[in-house]
Amino acid sequence: MMKLNLCIDIDGTITDAYYWLEMANEHFGIDIKPFQVTKYEIHEVLEIPKEDYLKFYEVYGEEIHTKADLRDNAKEILWALDQQHKITYVTAREARMKEVTEAWFRKHNLPKGEFHFLGTHYKVDKAKELKCHVFIEDRYENAIQLALAGFEVLLIDCYYNRNPLIPGVTRVFNWGDIHSRIEEYNRSIETIVQKAVDSCQIIEEYKAGHNDGSMKIA
Ligand SMILES: [Mg+2]
Repeated sequence: MMKLNLCIDIDGTITDAYYWLEMANEHFGIDIKPFQVTKYEIHEVLEIPKEDYLKFYEVYGEEIHTKADLRDNAKEILWALDQQHKITYVTAREARMKEVTEAWFRKHNLPKGEFHFLGTHYKVDKAKELKCHVFIEDRYENAIQLALAGFEVLLIDCYYNRNPLIPGVTRVFNWGDIHSRIEEYNRSIETIVQKAVDSCQIIEEYKAGHNDGSMKIA
């Protein structure tokens, strides 16, 4: 088995996708249900000005992240993946969320991995820097950007990312799915590598058998 570099988003990917709803509903005096979260931008879902949401996040961000729930089986699968591959957590959360985030990972006993707090949704450059093999995400725009840059993306299904996909992006529905897709991806890479090794072998044998100088195979 090859050791893959896995880049994993946190919010909506490792965490439940709608964990912020309860606090937002309470704060803004509304009653939005998860199925109504059909947009990624929270202020658009809540139909409030962006500044109002940012103010709310400024005050309650740490608390919201602290109270986040884990997706089903995320913990078990992350540990299984950690045995074989390199896990790096790549989040758009800002650096100020570092302590809260790491404490949450400790509380839930998740594999340590390396953290990158980008403070932006743009993840392509980081994926390149980390030599990413598979990126696991919930944000549609990220998935498309990453796939267009040549990365293999697993997009975990949410009400807000049900848009048409392009080659390179695979929709997954849970962490069990993620696990099987990564194993499948690993097997396909191994097949490609094995074919390349076999081809080299065939060429070597061919050269050895035609060593009269008349054939030139580089
Ligand atoms: Mg996310």
